[in-house]
Amino acid sequence: MATTLIRNLVFALTVDAHDTVLEDASMVVDGDRIAALGPAAEVEAEFPPDRVDTVVDGSRRGVVPGFVDSHVHLSETLSRGVFPDTLGTRAWVFHWAKPFYAHVGPEDERVSVLLGTTEMLRCGTTCFLDMGSQHDAGITVRAAAEVGIRGVTGRHAADTKPAEIPPGWTDEMVEHHFFPSAEVALEVLEQQVHDWNGYADGLIRCWVNIEGKEPCSPELHVGARALAERLGVGTTYHLATSIEEARVSERKHGLWPVERIASLGGLGSNLVIAHGVAVKDTEVPLLATHDAKVAFCPSTSLKLAKGATAIGKYPEMRDAGVTVGVGTDGVAAAGNINLMRQMYLVAGLFKDARLDETQIGGREALRMATIDGARALGWDDEIGSLEVGKRADFVLFDLDHFEWTPYEDPLMALVWSVSPASIAETWVNGRALYRDGRVVTVDEAALRAEARERAADIVRRAGLDRSATPVTTTLYE
Ligand SMILES: [Zn+2]
Repeated sequence: MATTLIRNLVFALTVDAHDTVLEDASMVVDGDRIAALGPAAEVEAEFPPDRVDTVVDGSRRGVVPGFVDSHVHLSETLSRGVFPDTLGTRAWVFHWAKPFYAHVGPEDERVSVLLGTTEMLRCGTTCFLDMGSQHDAGITVRAAAEVGIRGVTGRHAADTKPAEIPPGWTDEMVEHHFFPSAEVALEVLEQQVHDWNGYADGLIRCWVNIEGKEPCSPELHVGARALAERLGVGTTYHLATSIEEARVSERKHGLWPVERIASLGGLGSNLVIAHGVAVKDTEVPLLATHDAKVAFCPSTSLKLAKGATAIGKYPEMRDAGVTVGVGTDGVAAAGNINLMRQMYLVAGLFKDARLDETQIGGREALRMATIDGARALGWDDEIGSLEVGKRADFVLFDLDHFEWTPYEDPLMALVWSVSPASIAETWVNGRALYRDGRVVTVDEAALRAEARERAADIVRRAGLDRSATPVTTTLYE
């Protein structure tokens, strides 16, 4: 296997158990793994430059682990800027996102995944947890593998139609979107895991993902996690995504969403709850006891007025030992799939809201965007930090960029000052996928052109109209 020595890196933020920061470090990549990382002299005594295949000058570079996006919708990438930012969560989902998704065909979805994963690599994201394909997980799996990124996906599933089908939902869409029962949904999802988990030499995993909340029955919530456990994989679904959802749950079932799933025996260590913003103090220990994971999506919270700082318990969850990763969510919900922007928000939101500078800051935000995300995905044995033996997933920053000129502490600069603009290279599994300003596995210009064309067609077909599409909802109430 080919070896690469990256010499004299100005810094390496390892995000290991001690948050070790190395200066004047060298790193050796052997095939798909990190074979050495440490002080340059030590590494080069073991791996002399004349005995490796490739030598890279790292003297104007800093290295950090690849970012792990704990919640994304790769089928949503063609919806940028389509929906207004005056919608609450439930109207957004039911009257805008669902009709949009209904018109994303299999080929649109393939382009959407290629586009989304390409942008992710340009933003330093090397691994994702995607909610899944609207058609077949294989579409997402193959497109992501083509780009070369690491990730987890599945197939969208729901089984509970609203009592009244709203305008904008076609019969065809309802038929396609809802399985007739939890049992049928779980059969299909099990087959998807058998078909796609471990694709591309294990780079892509397939889970038992479901949409979650009102469009899914309690049997589907509980059954998805139990099935995932039996198959040795995970599950992710949306839950406690807004205060409105929590209020409806309380009125109909007498319990908040997390309480309800806990009362049904549905929490477990292989569950990643997307959002988890409407959570009461008494629900935090339930998450901790069952080791359920949470994916916090700050951009979506801001755009859809979810109240991350008004009602969110993310700092309390972390204090209680809950693993909290960071997600971008889809580009319609959040506006972007840039995990560095989420890291920036995470580092500041709670300090500001609580007038307390000891709340989650840069160090914690970097951990949440890397190793904690990896732990949420059950992948921290191989990714999430820069350590010998782990997979070579990392980001090299160009320290000659204005964003880094000048700087003193690399962690403070990374979180508070820097954007993807100064990323020089993004590596996944030992391959430099983003380098010299482009993602090497795709024809970027052709992809952008096709994406623009397909996005315009979907918007036209979906018939979303700012003057006619509802901006409030009573669905499922
Ligand atoms: Zn989502």
